Amino acid sequence: MLRNIISVDVEEYFHPTELAKCVRQEEWMALPSLVEPQTRQVLEIFDRHRIQGTFFVLGWVAERYPGLVREIASRGHEIACHSFFHRLVYDLTPEEFREDTKRAVHAIENACGITPRAYRAPSYSITKRSLWALEVLVECGFTHDSSIYPIEHDRYGIPGFGRNCRTLLTPSGPIVEVPIATVQLSEQTATPVGGGAYLRLLPYRYTAAGIRRINDADQQPACMYFHPWELDPDHPRLARGLVSRLRTYSGLRSMKRKIERLLSDFEFTTLTAVHPAVPANVEAHI
Ligand SMILES: [Zn+2]
Repeated sequence: MLRNIISVDVEEYFHPTELAKCVRQEEWMALPSLVEPQTRQVLEIFDRHRIQGTFFVLGWVAERYPGLVREIASRGHEIACHSFFHRLVYDLTPEEFREDTKRAVHAIENACGITPRAYRAPSYSITKRSLWALEVLVECGFTHDSSIYPIEHDRYGIPGFGRNCRTLLTPSGPIVEVPIATVQLSEQTATPVGGGAYLRLLPYRYTAAGIRRINDADQQPACMYFHPWELDPDHPRLARGLVSRLRTYSGLRSMKRKIERLLSDFEFTTLTAVHPAVPANVEAHI
């Protein structure tokens, strides 16, 4: 059976972009923190299924809870980077992005002694107008990126970008791009099956059929993701507005069961185990 990628974006329940309108960065410290117990629940599930995954840790979390990052690493998981402040890449200048990325790398290194080599932007915010970010990531020592969603969405995505993993050549060197799982519906349209809100909001069989199609018809591994807060149906509800509330809170009660089923039904491992960096294997220039 093909091995797929399971990845976890380690952040607090108040970090998602949907909440940026309701919770300012200055208020984060005043909110109750739940990232430790929520992530431990994920670690316990992964241990039970004997699965190693890739954990994209927010620098802000690594700085406050270094013990949690050490624990993730000590259980054999891959430590990767999810920025420092969870700001959208296309809202930053290249200089601001570089600063945020370096700060996150330092926080993660200080926490566990590991230099992260894989990056995921908050809300998949490497889009057509922020592709320059890949060059900055190479300069910061990253070999892998998983920030480009090849779909149409109001906030992110590069439709038609390419649904499979490939090595991109930036002016500073190569980087392996690992897109989140999608299924090709027509020549123009890819639909997401990668997890997160889609796994929460839609029936499990939709995600399972999508992975099967990617594995069997495309003969490709699928890259899946979710957040620790998605397994905690009782965390404080901060999102306002119908769409934001739906996107953030629907399906929380069934998420744990769906994740457990996913881990039983398919083979999963870390991002770099599935896609080791092959420097000579450049497939596209950006
Ligand atoms: Zn995030």
